[in-house]
Amino acid sequence: MTRVLILGGGFAGVYTAMTLERLLRRRSDVEIGLVSKENYLVFQPMLPEVISGSIGLLDTITPIRRLCPRTNLYTREVEAIDLDRRVVSTSSGFRPRPYHLAYDHLVIALGNITSFGGQPGLQEHALPFKYLGDALVLRNHIIHALEEADIESDAEIRTALLTFVVAGGGFSGVEAVAELNDFVRESARSFRNIDLRAIRVVLVHSRGRILPELPEGLARFAQRLLERRGVEMCLNRRVVGATGESALLDDGTRIPTKTLVGTVPSAANPLVAALPCKKENGRLVVDGHLEVPGYPGVWAAGDCASVVEATTGEPCPPTAQHATRQARCLAANIVATLEGRPRSVFAFRPLGQLAALGHRSAVAEILGVKLHGFLAWWLWRSIYLLKMPGFDRKLRVAMDWTLDLVLPPDIVQLKTDKTASLAREHFEKEEIIFRQGDRGDRLYVIVNGEVEVVREDEGRATAVVARLGPGECFGEMALVSDQPRTATVRSVCPVNVLTMDRAAFHELFAHLPPLRRLFQQLIAERSHDANWPPRDG
Ligand SMILES: Cc1cc2nc3c(=O)[nH]c(=O)nc-3n(C[C@H](O)[C@H](O)[C@H](O)COP(=O)(O)OP(=O)(O)OC[C@H]3O[C@@H](n4cnc5c(N)ncnc54)[C@H](O)[C@@H]3O)c2cc1C
Repeated sequence: MTRVLILGGGFAGVYTAMTLERLLRRRSDVEIGLVSKENYLVFQPMLPEVISGSIGLLDTITPIRRLCPRTNLYTREVEAIDLDRRVVSTSSGFRPRPYHLAYDHLVIALGNITSFGGQPGLQEHALPFKYLGDALVLRNHIIHALEEADIESDAEIRTALLTFVVAGGGFSGVEAVAELNDFVRESARSFRNIDLRAIRVVLVHSRGRILPELPEGLARFAQRLLERRGVEMCLNRRVVGATGESALLDDGTRIPTKTLVGTVPSAANPLVAALPCKKENGRLVVDGHLEVPGYPGVWAAGDCASVVEATTGEPCPPTAQHATRQARCLAANIVATLEGRPRSVFAFRPLGQLAALGHRSAVAEILGVKLHGFLAWWLWRSIYLLKMPGFDRKLRVAMDWTLDLVLPPDIVQLKTDKTASLAREHFEKEEIIFRQGDRGDRLYVIVNGEVEVVREDEGRATAVVARLGPGECFGEMALVSDQPRTATVRSVCPVNVLTMDRAAFHELFAHLPPLRRLFQQLIAERSHDANWPPRDG
């Protein structure tokens, strides 16, 4: 039995499996296997609509088992690829034992990942926008911000709650900001105390114009349209950092916000990065047949592959259109190899490009014809509906869209998971970490940087009572005594901290005597220190 093993359940992986099933339907000597973290394919072009709820969360995904019924699906995480031994190792399932899959042909279709590495605070505070879970988290976060803004009395905090920043003016950033803008402005009408004029939606983009993938005229149209709808364009700027309170731009500007969406940085999948093969910008270099040079039987397609299109000689952009066409060519070439026939070279000229701008408008370039407004939007919907795999999904999405034309946006906040008990936070220089009088909700441990503990009188700092550095903690007294904080803590320089929430702290404090002793000793020392605030720090 020959095994073709596909890694990745995105467009490239699933379309490879679907094509192989069709081409190999008369052969029983070839097993097709597909390993993916999820058992569904996400139709990413429709992900931005999950933010506004104009498409139901589950309607953008299709079970892989239904699309590829003859493929053995391994819903596992790939942990290692050994090209010499021709074996792939995956995570274990219910039983904690190693799981290895040998292959004759390997298709690497693992996509890329969102990476905020290197920019302080982005990992901790920016919301990625790539996977299904990201769209749900973002939607819930936006509704949460509106809920908080409705009852917040502090004007500064309310401003941050009502400011929404999206970083990245490419396709996914523009589509996301358009949906977010429509959703926030429409939903805010249901909140009694929110002044609609106070809402800010900002798109930060590093170049002079958004949508660099589109012709200039269309991109400018999209820009003007978004501006008319209230999106502020912050062009030729980059987001270089973030805190829980603001987005930091490369010119030193701080935009106070509680919602920063990062659509820009994508990095190589770590599994791909670890392979000993040639790479171009982190993507696996393949030959014209989509095979990895020097590794017969190893193939790659989609966002993780560096593919040169034969007719233009240009590298393919990372789009779903290209991933699906590459998958079909790659599958045909695997079958040709199995049957000893000549293989074909990948050639594909896209028919056009479309970007949705919310509110029944879009921009499009189809067969060289440029369209915008309602017609482009209608085309966008029709084309994507046709492309969506599975009849039941098409029907569900068509129904979602029809209902969306007449119903107001849904503002239900789904609280799906507990917020992490242990989290990392980043603060820039001179930021308030907590204020005197606040409720003690977290314990803080300094990873790097320095903070100062300040006593305040009627909102004005009267004395700096302590300075703390790496390895020191603060905030324990208010947690132990259940009293409001009696001092303000602010950062002296950029600071990274680990924080533990109240519930987790109390669990550990109650059940771990050495930890209890440690904190009791610390509190006693700090209480006897004349400089330290009497009950908190
Ligand atoms: C918001 C958004 C909007 C977009 N809009 C458009 C659009 O309008 N038009 C367009 O053409 N393109 C669009 N794109 C781009 C398009 O979605 C991608 O180019 C396409 O999904 C790439 O497919 P892929 O199979 O190569 O990678 P992916 O779709 O990223 O799939 C990779 C797969 O590998 C799996 N995987 C990764 N690591 C592991 C592991 N260790 N173990 C197991 N499985 C793993 C993942 O779970 C996933 O299933 C959009 C992208 C986004 C994020």
